[in-house]
Amino acid sequence: MVDLRSQYERLQADIDQAMQGVLERTSFINGEEMKVFAADLGKYLDCPTVITCGNGTDALQLVMMAMDFRPGQEVIVPAFTYIAAVEVLALLGLRPVLVDVHPETFQIDAKKIATAITANTVGIVPVHLFGQCADMGAIMEISKNHGLKVIEDAAQSLGAVYRMPDGSRKHSGTIGHAGTTSFFPSKTLGCFGDGGAAFTNDPELGQKIRMIANHGQRQKYFHESIGVNSRLDTLQAAILHAKLPHLDDFVQRRNAVAKAYNQAFALHPHIRIPQLVPNSTHAYHQYTIRIRGANRDQLRDFLKNQGIPTMVYYPLPVHLQPAYHYLGYKEGDFPVAEQLCNEVLSLPIHTEMEEDQLDHIISQVKRFFA
Ligand SMILES: *Cc1c(COP(=O)(O)O)cnc(C)c1O
Repeated sequence: MVDLRSQYERLQADIDQAMQGVLERTSFINGEEMKVFAADLGKYLDCPTVITCGNGTDALQLVMMAMDFRPGQEVIVPAFTYIAAVEVLALLGLRPVLVDVHPETFQIDAKKIATAITANTVGIVPVHLFGQCADMGAIMEISKNHGLKVIEDAAQSLGAVYRMPDGSRKHSGTIGHAGTTSFFPSKTLGCFGDGGAAFTNDPELGQKIRMIANHGQRQKYFHESIGVNSRLDTLQAAILHAKLPHLDDFVQRRNAVAKAYNQAFALHPHIRIPQLVPNSTHAYHQYTIRIRGANRDQLRDFLKNQGIPTMVYYPLPVHLQPAYHYLGYKEGDFPVAEQLCNEVLSLPIHTEMEEDQLDHIISQVKRFFA
């Protein structure tokens, strides 16, 4: 789905030099590059506090712990999503409360959030799925009216920007009370291993997140709260620091691929192209279509035989996952999520896609239906 090698080859001189610098200084943990990258990411996002950590799932956990949520309290999450936020909530003894998604944008359906709120609800996790923002104008309004914390999972949406109702433009992950992201190699800004970050505009919350990531200590060997050990190592930070100046270009290149797919498939009787959320730009971490009135899995097999990789993100909604049966949901509870799991197909998209590759994919998809 992604072509990590071709991007590395294009940026190799800068990346190799950055890595070599770390090797020479042998400051592998908490090295200078880690601080420099965190500061640069903060500047890019226009967000004062960036805490780097071990991965995107850890980032969610650090934020949830820092918010002092209590076991038994409820947090709203989309039913069609990557599992990380649900998993972290469950581990902390919180109850993930699922809400169905919008069929055309794949984002949590803001209109359905209100009915899921109870006296126990403390937060909402909009997962900016596939690279565009959820309906943050509406979500922040709900959060204000009900006193809920908003934790944005921006693991797929780094680089996307949302225009707020007041006209200001904010990066995904910096709109709510806190945001998180992942630098997993295939993410839009990926390192060469695991990495993640949390961000917040609230300096006090930021300090707490930082403390929890470091064994709950501000001062070495004095533990104020139960913490974890979660760090972005210096080598990964150096790689990310070399790649960050290219992030907007990565997003542009992905948008060019998405545009070509959109043009090719917009009027196709069996393909629904992804719809944009009003006021959001799209980083196209994934380009995901829906297959209607045809067999999605047969198309997958057909493309695979032509040497074209595709993926199904995601094949099973949260409420039908065996691990989460205990939540008590049943089939039919989230019909849109269930439908999407049967219809979605993510096509190859990356930053070095050549025109002939793109033409080949488009013509083979069309040939399947011919
Ligand atoms: C990748 C991803 C994560 C988790 O990131 P890791 O770094 O793999 O822990 C969390 N949420 C979403 C939506 C993701 O796509």
